[in-house]
Amino acid sequence: MQQVEIITTAILLSWVAVVITLERYFPYRKGLPFFREGFWTDLVLYTLVQSYALKIIIFDFIILPLDQHYGFSKLHFVTGWPVWVQVLFFVITHDFYIYWFHRFQHSSPLFWRTHEAHHSGKQVDWLAGSRSHALEIIINQTIEFAPIILLGADPMVVPIKACIDAVWGIWIHCNINVKSGRLQYFINGPEMHLWHHADHEEVFYANFSTKFAFWDWLFGTAYLPDHKPQKWGLPYAFPKDYFSQHVFSVARFDEAALAQRSGWFRAYHGLRGRLLTRLTNRVPALRPLQGWPVPETHTSTVPAQRPGGNFTVAPAPPAAPAHLTPTAALPR
Ligand SMILES: [Zn+2]
Ligand SMILES: [Zn+2]
Repeated sequence: MQQVEIITTAILLSWVAVVITLERYFPYRKGLPFFREGFWTDLVLYTLVQSYALKIIIFDFIILPLDQHYGFSKLHFVTGWPVWVQVLFFVITHDFYIYWFHRFQHSSPLFWRTHEAHHSGKQVDWLAGSRSHALEIIINQTIEFAPIILLGADPMVVPIKACIDAVWGIWIHCNINVKSGRLQYFINGPEMHLWHHADHEEVFYANFSTKFAFWDWLFGTAYLPDHKPQKWGLPYAFPKDYFSQHVFSVARFDEAALAQRSGWFRAYHGLRGRLLTRLTNRVPALRPLQGWPVPETHTSTVPAQRPGGNFTVAPAPPAAPAHLTPTAALPR
């Protein structure tokens, strides 16, 4: 491991510790459990396994062959720039791209399927941002890291940029009651992004920014009311399992009904629950590992008009079959 990677990993782990601590003392949503629903899926499958596997695919099987074929990096477009200027340049340009791609994902029924997993968590916290469909990561990180390598950036820029992404991703999803005042016009944070994850009609097409909030203010999609959302997640049933979530993006099905029909799926699907139950029966002190549901005041999407009226031109996310939408009609 290179020195810069050791430093960025240390920064990231320290940041996780700070954010987890602040979440306990200054929660945005009180009573949110640390081991909330989907915690293990997000930590083990999305954060560790998926990101490790996709890093190999993106760098070794997409970007490296591209560079070997075209040799752009030998042209050294940005090589002479100071490292901090390179980092700033790629942070701002990629953030501009991600605003528009994110906005497109919320408007295209096809691309919504690569993004709905990110919105599926009903309990949003520091780890929730890691839940992103594999294809979404492949598209976004290829577009993020290919220019860094093809334009001949300093090799340090990759780990530094990855660290900034992780730190900022944790920040905008964290369950901390932040009041950043005017800073929220520039720097994106949980105040606006926790609203983006809310199951409220008025934000289905708002708050697309990731790092810099000014894109939303500039392009008319900012939403920052003086109260908090009442409900988070999707307005339709979504699978809880990592693999089911990916299959669901291609073919809609009811995970609970499948578990009833198929013994094989039932055995696989309930495995983690059975193991955890067995463990906590033996060691009751470990019961928090199972998490517990946070009661929701609203069972369906909270309808509302945003100031100046709701967005009406954008198409709704793709409708799940009627039996998958017990709670609410999809947005229009
Ligand atoms: Zn989104
Ligand atoms: Zn998010």
